[in-house]
Amino acid sequence: MVGLWNVVHDCGHHSFSEYPLLDDAIGLILHSLVLTPYHSFKYSHRTHHANTSSLEKDENWVPKLKNDTWFVEIIANPIGNVMMLLFRLAFGYFGYFLFNLHGRIYKGLPSHYNPLGPIFNDSERGQVFLSDLGVVAALYGLDRIGTKTGFQWLLYVYGVPLVIMCAFFILFTYLNHNHPSVAHYDSREWDWLRGALATVDRDYGILSTIFHDEPNAHVVHHLFSNIPHYHIVEATQYIKPVLGDYYNFDDTSILKAVIRETKECLFIEEDSEKKGIYWFRK
Ligand SMILES: [Zn+2]
Repeated sequence: MVGLWNVVHDCGHHSFSEYPLLDDAIGLILHSLVLTPYHSFKYSHRTHHANTSSLEKDENWVPKLKNDTWFVEIIANPIGNVMMLLFRLAFGYFGYFLFNLHGRIYKGLPSHYNPLGPIFNDSERGQVFLSDLGVVAALYGLDRIGTKTGFQWLLYVYGVPLVIMCAFFILFTYLNHNHPSVAHYDSREWDWLRGALATVDRDYGILSTIFHDEPNAHVVHHLFSNIPHYHIVEATQYIKPVLGDYYNFDDTSILKAVIRETKECLFIEEDSEKKGIYWFRK
């Protein structure tokens, strides 16, 4: 499911085929099957790529300022860290699509299921509605299957894998965009290249192939989002010598990294000397 998700991600970038309609048809069907609104994500994801690591305009994983956050004391301790990690893995995926959890702060109801919401512009609302219809059709189909075969069976063959897929999706997007040594920027210092380079490739070992290499070759994806997933590892080999120290790769084991990042990447503070640049602070 995670691998297929990343193929749909290619569809959203129109790097799946030379036919945008085919990309959208396959994307809509496959994303609907995992209750994800295809066009809605395609549009917000485009905004994410255009504004990566911008505190004002990025769509995903927008960190909170330590001084502005009322719950610092609650989560900045070992128990709070564990609760935060479990909460993210369990609810982060649908929390993001339903309520824009960990996303950009909007006025109104910023939900990927809300065609009238502030995430989308007027030209996008019709397709967001179409994506909702896809999810409703999938829910209807699941209900029919559950009624025929039993909901317990459906839970085992669909519900549990879906929850695991969501957790993995949260895990790898989190680790691609959160690292103690990577900065965020406000509009005084942000530019597109700086933002794209504030991403981190990770080492998932054997899982890299299953995930279609998206989490271990994410930097190149942010520089050239039209490269399909089956070429991003090769492309990474070519950008590494060009980028030199600007290429971020961390081979810390995934378990160790997620524990460290959950502890050290909870909040940001502005650089004391360079205004407009923000670093994670414990
Ligand atoms: Zn992308």
